[in-house]
Amino acid sequence: MTTFKPLLDQYSWDQVKKKIYSTRDQEVQYVLGKTKLDLTDFMMLLSPAATAYLEQMASRAQEITQRRFGKTIQLYAPLYLSNECQNICTYCGFSMDNKIKRKTLNNTELLLEAMALKSMGVEHVLLVSGEANKTVEINYFLNAISLLKPHFSQISIEVQPLEQNEYELLQQAGVHAILVYQETYHREVYKQYHPKGKKSNFDYRLDTPDRIGQAGIHKIGLGVLLGLEDWRIDSFFTAAHIAYLQRQYWQTRYSISFPRLRPAEGSVAPNFNLSDKHLLQLICAYRLWNDNLEISISTRENEAFRDHIIPIGVTTMSAASKTNPGGYVVDPQALEQFEVSDERSMETIKKQIQQMGYDPVMKDWESSYSGFIY
Ligand code: SF4
Repeated sequence: MTTFKPLLDQYSWDQVKKKIYSTRDQEVQYVLGKTKLDLTDFMMLLSPAATAYLEQMASRAQEITQRRFGKTIQLYAPLYLSNECQNICTYCGFSMDNKIKRKTLNNTELLLEAMALKSMGVEHVLLVSGEANKTVEINYFLNAISLLKPHFSQISIEVQPLEQNEYELLQQAGVHAILVYQETYHREVYKQYHPKGKKSNFDYRLDTPDRIGQAGIHKIGLGVLLGLEDWRIDSFFTAAHIAYLQRQYWQTRYSISFPRLRPAEGSVAPNFNLSDKHLLQLICAYRLWNDNLEISISTRENEAFRDHIIPIGVTTMSAASKTNPGGYVVDPQALEQFEVSDERSMETIKKQIQQMGYDPVMKDWESSYSGFIY
């Protein structure tokens, strides 16, 4: 199987860093004058020099997003299946070494949670779990999907990396999208944050989007955990990964998420802070580079930032999220994976989107937008 690894190995982290940090004003102006941007252009838009052009970048990002996706924001909600996990990730509340009550939803609990989401109008659900390969594994996922399928238009998943044949089973079961975040593309730093468990295998995780692409899944979601390493360099490697995947699996759609490290039980503080201004710059850079990319913002971000970003480049938002298994009705007090920042209800967020002249869409936007897709 062809993978991204040989391409990643060709790059030097330090050289990419040097290039980004030495970008000059004139280079940014040149990139902003272009209509079609490549990866080198994207790199320049991540630079400290480009921050001064944020207004220009935001207005162009807005224009591209509206032309490409219309004035719609797709809403979804996560459904946490389990907080069991066999990995140690030093930033996560579910880490194996955290002494918390572990829970995996049974069939009845799963349906109770699903009905709570349905009553909020949710049509697109994202199934999330810790990485417990023996209990929360492919058969558990397939069973959960068969129970939930009659109730939701779209089911996406964000669970441990699986084998290609398992992704094929998920594809046959009707899974819409699979999200898998590399967390950081810096090998040594990755090891420090993931000292134990299957997730400590950097290359197996790196190859995962290829296994998903080979299995023919409709959409792949990528991202890094912003705060583990320098966001500028990690984001360049994320974009390089997406560019490779788009060439390799051109029929697949791609989305990018921007999880910023949030407080969690027993977790470390971010090593690299990403300000709101720089997150905005990052979102604009992605939109200017790649007008097909779906851009997703979660409830990790606060109300004010999420509202501000609606017209600029976002296509998808989670809402009313609970990040613990059973969090909607079964066990609302259970420990969260991370603290949610935007705690508004689904109804409130829908109204806010409408007030801003946008349509809140409860299914994947491509089923409600009649414009040109590819
Ligand atoms: S980030 Fe995922 S794999 Fe790591 S401890 Fe948390 S749930 Fe487990």
